[in-house]
Amino acid sequence: MDLFEYQARDLFEANSIPVLKAKVATTPAQARDAAQEIGGKVVVKAQVKIGGRGKAGGVKLAENGDDAYAKAEAILGMDIKGHIVKKVMIAAAAPIESEYYLAILLDRSNRSFLVMASVAGGMEIEEVAHTAPEKLAKVPVSAVDGISLAKAKEIVAQAAFPADVADQVADVLVTLWETFLSEDATLVEINPLVKTHDGKIIALDGKVSLD
Ligand code: GDP
Ligand code: MN
Repeated sequence: MDLFEYQARDLFEANSIPVLKAKVATTPAQARDAAQEIGGKVVVKAQVKIGGRGKAGGVKLAENGDDAYAKAEAILGMDIKGHIVKKVMIAAAAPIESEYYLAILLDRSNRSFLVMASVAGGMEIEEVAHTAPEKLAKVPVSAVDGISLAKAKEIVAQAAFPADVADQVADVLVTLWETFLSEDATLVEINPLVKTHDGKIIALDGKVSLD
């Protein structure tokens, strides 16, 4: 079972993985109210259980409440690869400096777990995985050892995260592992995990699959 992005976001928040304020809306008027309550610039995001929403026009920045109304009106009802958009998430917009990728998944063929991490995250991550696989670190993790802070720091170093965010990313990875375990997940993915202009690490999009 896959979660919607807003459910993944709430799960992250409950586990203290840094996320931004967000609300779900099913009408443009609700989207305007949500944007006004959040304040400032927001993103309006289609809630469908399929990737590639950004490229399909399902993720739009809005300047204010009225703009959020217009963007929600455009996105609600949209057909994204056969998925009709019935809900949007309105989230505070992040000033993005860099987009990273972080995921933990069940590797059935090796009966272990796999962490994937990259400083080349964002909408082109699949392209990166194919054309520049060296930019995507893949690290097996055993159920017995799990991901300690020391292991997380190793993985973060292997993926060549910049020094100024390494500790924050390692903390997120440890928490992501704890979340993965406690939820009996087969996949937890953050893409993008961003660094903001003021150097903070925030999970901007999450995908969670439960067993
Ligand atoms: P996906 O295409 O379905 O994976 O949707 P995402 O939530 O990952 O959004 C796609 C892209 O939209 C991201 O890689 C970002 O570049 C951009 N984006 C998403 N949220 C924000 C935001 O708060 N601020 C800005 N500036 N861009 C965002
Ligand atoms: Mn994404």
